Amino acid sequence: MTIRRIVSYPDLVLSKRATPVVAFDAALKELTDDMFDTMLASEGVGLAAPQIGLSLQLFVMDCDGLSLVAANPKVEATNGLQNGEEGCLSLGRIRHAVDRPRTAMLRAQDLRGEFFEIEVHDVAARCVMHETDHCEGKLFLAHLSPLKCDNLIRKFRKTQKRRNTNIPTQ
Ligand code: ZN
Repeated sequence: MTIRRIVSYPDLVLSKRATPVVAFDAALKELTDDMFDTMLASEGVGLAAPQIGLSLQLFVMDCDGLSLVAANPKVEATNGLQNGEEGCLSLGRIRHAVDRPRTAMLRAQDLRGEFFEIEVHDVAARCVMHETDHCEGKLFLAHLSPLKCDNLIRKFRKTQKRRNTNIPTQ
């Protein structure tokens, strides 16, 4: 069990489109095991590879009873609308309500490289869309107005500064 370091905004790896997964081997399985461990240790419900500094189109999630590994994820279709609070392990304690479709059809590859499709709803759909966004270099802030986004980033920077000053210098 290896817990990886989670990278925070504004790390560049979070804002670029990740590269597709091409090797479906033992190393990929090991990586997703680490991602699950890291996600659970951080009390998250989803974690994408760019969040541990790897520019790979890959995420893991364990949300609303659905445990999933998705490589090269694509949201193929959506339906309905929901509004709910969202947070991100790369944005500290910042949370905000985000509009998302209520239902999403995810197409992705599993650890063996087999394609699968799954229809997800409500919080699981929110999680799938949030993590797929990460693979495309997008944070949930991108779904908010520029003004709200700026405010949240300012708030986040303040909390980061406070955190840094708590670290004793040795
Ligand atoms: Zn996130």
